Amino acid sequence: MSFLQLRIRPDRSPIRDYCTQNSIRGLQGLSWEEEGSMQHTTHLNLKSVPAHSSVSITGILETSKSATQADTVVPSKEYLTRYISDYNLRLGSIQCLNPFPKDIIVSKDAVWPPQSRHLQLRFDTHLYNRLRARDEVETPMLFKSTPEGAREFLVPTRRKGFAYALPQSPQQYKQILMAGGIGKYFQFAKCFRDEDHRADRQPEFTQIDLEMSFSTGKDVMRTVDSMMSSLDDHIRNNSINAVRHLPKSPFPLFQHPFHHISYMDAMRDYGIDKPDLRITPSNASMIHEIDDWLSPDFKRMITNIEDPIVEACKFRFIGTPQDSAKLIQKFFNTLHNTTHELSRDSTPGVFVFDSSKPLQGLSSLGHEAAEKVATYKSDSWLSCEDGDVIIIHARKRQPTQGGSTELGRLRKLIYDTAVEKGLMPKDNSFKFVWITEFPLFSPNNGDPGQGGSAGFSATHHPFTSPLTAEDVDLLRTDPLKAKADHYDLVLNGVEIGGGSRRIHVAEVQEYVMREVLKMTDQGMAQFSHLLEALRAGCPPHAGFAIGFDRLVSILCDAPSIRDVIAFPKNNKGEDQLVGSPSKTTLAQQKMYHLFTEPQPPPPSP
Ligand code: ASP
Repeated sequence: MSFLQLRIRPDRSPIRDYCTQNSIRGLQGLSWEEEGSMQHTTHLNLKSVPAHSSVSITGILETSKSATQADTVVPSKEYLTRYISDYNLRLGSIQCLNPFPKDIIVSKDAVWPPQSRHLQLRFDTHLYNRLRARDEVETPMLFKSTPEGAREFLVPTRRKGFAYALPQSPQQYKQILMAGGIGKYFQFAKCFRDEDHRADRQPEFTQIDLEMSFSTGKDVMRTVDSMMSSLDDHIRNNSINAVRHLPKSPFPLFQHPFHHISYMDAMRDYGIDKPDLRITPSNASMIHEIDDWLSPDFKRMITNIEDPIVEACKFRFIGTPQDSAKLIQKFFNTLHNTTHELSRDSTPGVFVFDSSKPLQGLSSLGHEAAEKVATYKSDSWLSCEDGDVIIIHARKRQPTQGGSTELGRLRKLIYDTAVEKGLMPKDNSFKFVWITEFPLFSPNNGDPGQGGSAGFSATHHPFTSPLTAEDVDLLRTDPLKAKADHYDLVLNGVEIGGGSRRIHVAEVQEYVMREVLKMTDQGMAQFSHLLEALRAGCPPHAGFAIGFDRLVSILCDAPSIRDVIAFPKNNKGEDQLVGSPSKTTLAQQKMYHLFTEPQPPPPSP
């Protein structure tokens, strides 16, 4: 018995014919003709599936006479896809995953227009084989502008009013490949995003990009897990160790398979969707909600918010209570020099536990709360010792949104500062974790998003599938509550990759764009190529992209991705080596129609 999810390529018999000729033959003499029998129902189901559709089938595989593998060997999915005609399938059940539309007529001599490249890829065997011979698929650098999420770079052309856009990622091309029957894709992809020049971002960067058809998010996470596990050898035996000097050890460098934490749990326990799992209770506790412990008077001292959520986190530094006090005071005094801006919602309450002081230094909490804090202990909050620093912080009582809470950001920043100053031990290990079940949509935050009028945008990108059937229902009733089959891989507190299972049914994709995100007709039209590809029986698919520069920078313990890129750009997006971007000349402005009326270049500074 073998479970298959196969879509047969056009150079093989289409799935329906294949099953009809083979499995039904297998069922002869049984009861497929007997109305009401299981086999009869399966037969009817099979007949109702349009040819060229994506299907999931279960059945018993039998080798035919020409088969080269022994009967007893369960062939791999890859082997089956290639040598399907060597097998007969005794069909058990069939489920249509995406029907092939009636208005696309597939015949031997059909000629598909360039707009239907997905059909050319799928039905032109010669083209398919030539791409196989090439052994890799590259996606174009000159793409077009689409509201996928990030701000793009435009490339003007000599044709007046026309421009390319550089791809923010090959996302749409890789999905079209899946619709075109290229079941697996893998590429080192250059991506371009015109982002605000936040720390450690480059306008161009490299991704290890992949996509898999007939796959779920779990399949993709498993694949990435095993890709990453091969890094272990690479780190030990390769150039990375030349910069890291990791101690020789027979044990793996990281725990495998990687741990999974849901977005909600990560936000609750770490206050951030990229938790740094090197931070353990021996240096900082998890975040604990402590509203119940505190008096209204104390809450009013730290916040103006009515009915706030009040949370606490505890830090343990090396040294005396005086050393801890000095560090934490300096930290808050110099916070304005960092990118962190304290919100107006709460003034953090900062306490140093000191048994030589009244109420162990916690007296402004009031007697009862001081007692609670001083005696509390759990797996993620070690009991208080002299020198422990407790930070108490308030936030609005609303579902967590975005990537972090203020206390979550402070926790990581204090840890990094303490390690830098030698007041917490440096942990050289690699702590990977998957973050899953993100909200499908997030309120607009100033990024361009999809430009719809809903007031929110896709958290990952608009092609991400809802997680469960309930989440599909929430699209209609309460989209901000819907969860996504979206997963990020985090290493030592840094997001090194993200991916999702995709919406593979055109109607659902269109519904999300038009009815949920409330995109305009014009915005929708920019995705017509993708909707058309999904409509042609596209199989379910999922994928992922690893930020290659970032991964290397963490492995090398380099402070910035700029330190692992041969020719990086500075935080203004400039390459100072060659002086890019450079000013356009009058002649260029004219040639590329950069202004309706050609403008003179700005004067030199
Ligand atoms: N294209 C996505 C990104 O660049 C990754 C993915 O969903 O595969 O983040």
